[in-house]
Amino acid sequence: FIVVKQVCKSFGSHQVLRDVSTVFNTGEVTVIIGASGSGKSTLLRAINRLEPHDSGSITIGGEPVGDDQHTLQKQRSEVGMVFQQFNLFGHMSVLDNVTLAPRRIRRTPRAQANEQAMALLRRVGMQDHAHKYPWQLSGGQQQRVAIARALAMQPKVMLFDEPTSALDPEMVQEVLDVMRELARGGMTMIVVTHEMGFAREVSDRVMFFDQGRIAHDAPPAEFFSNPANDRIRAFIGRMG
Ligand code: ATP
Ligand code: MG
Repeated sequence: FIVVKQVCKSFGSHQVLRDVSTVFNTGEVTVIIGASGSGKSTLLRAINRLEPHDSGSITIGGEPVGDDQHTLQKQRSEVGMVFQQFNLFGHMSVLDNVTLAPRRIRRTPRAQANEQAMALLRRVGMQDHAHKYPWQLSGGQQQRVAIARALAMQPKVMLFDEPTSALDPEMVQEVLDVMRELARGGMTMIVVTHEMGFAREVSDRVMFFDQGRIAHDAPPAEFFSNPANDRIRAFIGRMG
């Protein structure tokens, strides 16, 4: 569904993505791991054009990711993103956070948007908190609301950039559980994470980034049981 072809990206003289090519198929869950600075976030940001790539091409459902505003708006609604920092709108209730994009961009009437939002909040176990504000929630709860908010636009793909890295350990599992349910429901997902348990149990493939390149890409069973090289072995060792 997402096709990445020979994508390069530099910041100044620092080349961050070096000739990255891969395909993310519909329904597939890909986990991306790799050292800090290896380009994982930059790839996700290039996919939804938060960061323009320098050369090569990225297509979503056959349409190139570029500067055409009409296409970009369509693609942004097809691709949901959840970041490490939950960045909910602090002055809005949980319900308003989730209904904002459908109401503004889809022009969904408020009653219908609320109804859809409540269904999503139920899905992430947050239906009892709809009228609270972000500051009244734990990090794990905020992140689950952030997932519901991304789902409100009915995306075809969900990108997660270290969604549990900023959470206290006891809240990590509740967020991973929501992601696991999403995966079970057939959502196409690209997940940058250090959670090796999630990678092993939920993903269809694990991609290892090393200095801006996809150094290895394999199903989790193969990836973990038979690490392709010493760098990967060392990385897995550090992550547990
Ligand atoms: P981490 O695991 O720490 O999140 P990452 O693999 O996500 O790392 P990226 O965020 O993609 O790495 O960054 C890759 C490199 O690009 C890093 O060296 C980073 O400093 C640099 N970089 C990222 N964004 C910018 C920017 N806007 N301007 C300049 N350099 C940047
Ligand atoms: Mg990153």
